[in-house]
Amino acid sequence: MRYSKLLIPTVKEVPAEAEIPSHQLMIRAGFIRKLASGTYTYLPLGFRSLRKIAEIVRQEMDAAGAQEISMPILQPIELWQQTGREADYGPTMCKFEDRHGRVNALAPTAEEVVTSLVAAEVSSYKQLPLNLYQIHTKFRDEFRPRFGVLRSREFLMKDAYSFHASVESLDETYRAMYDAYCRIFSRCGLKYVAVEAESGPIGGSASHEFMVPCSAGEDVIVHTEDYSYAANIEKAEIDPAKRDPGPGTGNSAMEEVRTPNVGSIEAVCKFLGTQPRDMIKTLLYQSEGQVLVALVRGDHELNENKLAHAAGAAHMELAGESAIQHVTGAAVGFAGPMGLVEGGKIARLVVDHSVAAMASGVTGANRTDFHVKNVVPGRDFPLEGEKVLIADIRNAVEGDTRGGKPLKFSRGIEVGHVFKLGTKYSEKLGATYLDEQGVSHPCLMGCYGIGVNRILASAIEMGHDDNGCVLPVNIAPFEAVVVPLNADKPAVRDAAERIYSELLAGGADVLLDDRDARPGVKFKDADLIGLPLRIVVGERGLKEGMVEIKRRTDEKPALVPVAQAVAEARKILQEMKQG
Ligand code: ATP
Ligand code: MG
Repeated sequence: MRYSKLLIPTVKEVPAEAEIPSHQLMIRAGFIRKLASGTYTYLPLGFRSLRKIAEIVRQEMDAAGAQEISMPILQPIELWQQTGREADYGPTMCKFEDRHGRVNALAPTAEEVVTSLVAAEVSSYKQLPLNLYQIHTKFRDEFRPRFGVLRSREFLMKDAYSFHASVESLDETYRAMYDAYCRIFSRCGLKYVAVEAESGPIGGSASHEFMVPCSAGEDVIVHTEDYSYAANIEKAEIDPAKRDPGPGTGNSAMEEVRTPNVGSIEAVCKFLGTQPRDMIKTLLYQSEGQVLVALVRGDHELNENKLAHAAGAAHMELAGESAIQHVTGAAVGFAGPMGLVEGGKIARLVVDHSVAAMASGVTGANRTDFHVKNVVPGRDFPLEGEKVLIADIRNAVEGDTRGGKPLKFSRGIEVGHVFKLGTKYSEKLGATYLDEQGVSHPCLMGCYGIGVNRILASAIEMGHDDNGCVLPVNIAPFEAVVVPLNADKPAVRDAAERIYSELLAGGADVLLDDRDARPGVKFKDADLIGLPLRIVVGERGLKEGMVEIKRRTDEKPALVPVAQAVAEARKILQEMKQG
């Protein structure tokens, strides 16, 4: 393609609204333009990259035995009501009424649609396993669209859904998808880690997220130094704490202290001169009409996913003011675990390992404006009994270990997610099959998502320098650019045209910068766009029979005889593609 014919509106200035390099560079290199909050137009260069990524995804999905389909973006809301997920998605899902008064959603994902399809079309175990995918637009009214196409409202997702008659079959496809994901991200030139994620109804390591470690990421990866263990912070398991001798001896009696109007951990610490790590946070949750109390140390953060798993609660929400008052007899901010189990007002007391290990702590007195000091776990509230559970219910923090190895924290961008769903959707939507004996069962399901736009943005986030993008060869809009300097000189123009057409004829994806522009402008744009290889044809070089070849990552160009330029460029591109 010829530069002069393409819409490539590069920009010098750093766009004010863009916080991170990939967002700035995608605008500056003329890849995207914003239409409105969280919606972007892909210009020719950006779209070429996006298409290349989608094609890699498609090839690997096909090779792994998935079949491509295309489902509507408009989804009848009734399907979401049948699975009960309308409420789960809440305002993130965009809904509207059509002219006949029917409510539709703009697809945020497609489990409901694909499962209803399979419910209608599959009836026998002989039709299973089945793996269907699409590469299609999704819409999520994200609360905070940010970082350009990394978190947008409209985006391109590859979503695959598999259906099975046995756990073994699901495991096999899950593994095949996992492996296909590894190939996809490698081919896209990304450095990634597969981390254990919040698991579904099947438990175990039934969910993995593929993360690109990167400071702009919104997810936290918890991992050992060697990454032999890596998990999303929502899931990361930690070794139970050892008994902490703490400041108190554990012998002193409880002591009530007046703490008027100081409810928060920080305020109480300041008021009493203690540390958050010596406080016991008492949190009340409501789950199916019952109250559940969770205890974590003041310096720790409760992990609701872990708590729900530990307590076996499907739905759970923080208790409201009136429930708190009813259970504790005090205003919000003064809850403590003393007497709650014995009082019979709560269904469960879930104690984090670190709290169970405390010698003593400070907590609310279940009396408005009072806290209690010297509260000893096991003495002043129970650590045993039918209603009591000691479990890992908090987020990992610096200093925690797993399997004895210290845990580290890194940020990551989630580019893909594989998930074993079990029968959650098939049961509700009637996707059943008859086994060999003619007995009906709900299909076991898996689902597998990839953010196509996020791959491009994270590749740029990880691959750039002060001059612009440094794109991996397989997803760059073009593999190489031929740059004639002073293209008005016939010798220069002819040599450049010949190299360009020979490379094209050999199957390389090349751009010819045929613009009538100053060399400096051409060099700057080539660097900004970040194409992997640059071949410069200049008058001075030609006199010596030479052209310049430079990888985007090279400091300096290499001089190559004109006659060998094409062969040399092909060789370098070949090497790049092989990684
Ligand atoms: P996140 O936690 O980042 O909101 P998610 O877990 O909700 O993502 P999934 O439902 O697993 O996302 O969607 C599959 C993939 O789609 C994600 O792995 C991600 O790459 C991509 N994706 C999700 N939301 C967005 C978005 N708002 N913009 C761009 N890509 C997205
Ligand atoms: Mg996810």
